[in-house]
Amino acid sequence: MRFKTLTPRNSSEALEMLKTNQGELLPVAGGTNVLVDLHRAKIRPKALVDLSRLDEWKEIKLNNGVLEIGSLVTHAQLASNSLLDGPFAGLRTAAGMVGGPQIRNRGTLAGNLQSASPAADTATPLLALGAVLTLVSVSGHREVAADKFFAGPGKTVLEPFELVSKVTIKTNPAAKSVFYKIGKRNAMAISLINLAACLESDSEGKCVNVGIALGAVAPTPVRAKQVEAFLLGKKIDEAVILKAQELVEGDISPISDIRAEAGHRRHLAKVLVKRALQTLARVEEE
Ligand SMILES: Cc1cc2nc3c(=O)[nH]c(=O)nc-3n(C[C@H](O)[C@H](O)[C@H](O)COP(=O)(O)OP(=O)(O)OC[C@H]3O[C@@H](n4cnc5c(N)ncnc54)[C@H](O)[C@@H]3O)c2cc1C
Repeated sequence: MRFKTLTPRNSSEALEMLKTNQGELLPVAGGTNVLVDLHRAKIRPKALVDLSRLDEWKEIKLNNGVLEIGSLVTHAQLASNSLLDGPFAGLRTAAGMVGGPQIRNRGTLAGNLQSASPAADTATPLLALGAVLTLVSVSGHREVAADKFFAGPGKTVLEPFELVSKVTIKTNPAAKSVFYKIGKRNAMAISLINLAACLESDSEGKCVNVGIALGAVAPTPVRAKQVEAFLLGKKIDEAVILKAQELVEGDISPISDIRAEAGHRRHLAKVLVKRALQTLARVEEE
């Protein structure tokens, strides 16, 4: 297997390369998906654009409650950074559950998102937290909400001349988030379903802000919009959780595949909705 690799020194050089060779070049970050696809001859780019020298996209910053994550931040960095405590904990947990240590040390946030697997572990926390992706090109930049980024399995709205530069999350420090993943085994497994939820309650315990997203239950990671709409303004108790479990079925469209039957995924979606709401609202079972 032979291929040419271009190594831009900064993002401007990388974007110029993509613009002048439209559709013929493939960016590579950690390479954990790209190299597997090249090896299997699933992709045949004319050349790779190695993004590893773009240090400007490797930082995590928190200012006034706004978290900015450079697109080339690795899962290992996300999982070990204390800035991701509090409201961002769901994303931190998800990053810590991607593959094994080797994959987490190389694999990046943008690589995980642009691969657009319906089961991508960092996608659901970003949907639940209302994250926004910044897409850059030689002509400027545009912002796309995480829940508008995915267009189908392996497809996103990113143009061939664009790159993801960062992900921004604005959330109330009082919010809490969680992430749950079920695989065929406990470690080193692709999600047969995952769920992320973010909840903010007022002083009376009523839900004032909520985001719930599920992975591997539809062609793209999806928000549970019916569940979210139902929970707003409610104090979360056992009866509310039971109704939320019913409603989640309307938010997902799972298929049967090598990892699980559709019916099993529907059952697990209900289990995870209950687990997340019980944890976030501290509801004890009678
Ligand atoms: C053994 C193994 C286990 C895995 N386990 C999991 C798992 O448990 N959960 C999970 O979600 N995934 C898993 N993966 C998939 C993969 O490792 C992750 O999706 C990883 O985050 C990909 O990141 P990367 O930097 O390696 O991407 P790359 O392979 O470098 O790139 C992937 C795609 O993203 C594009 N891209 C990369 N950076 C940018 C950018 N800045 N802007 C625009 N496009 C960009 C590339 O062009 C390519 O299309 C696993 C993979 C392997 C091989």
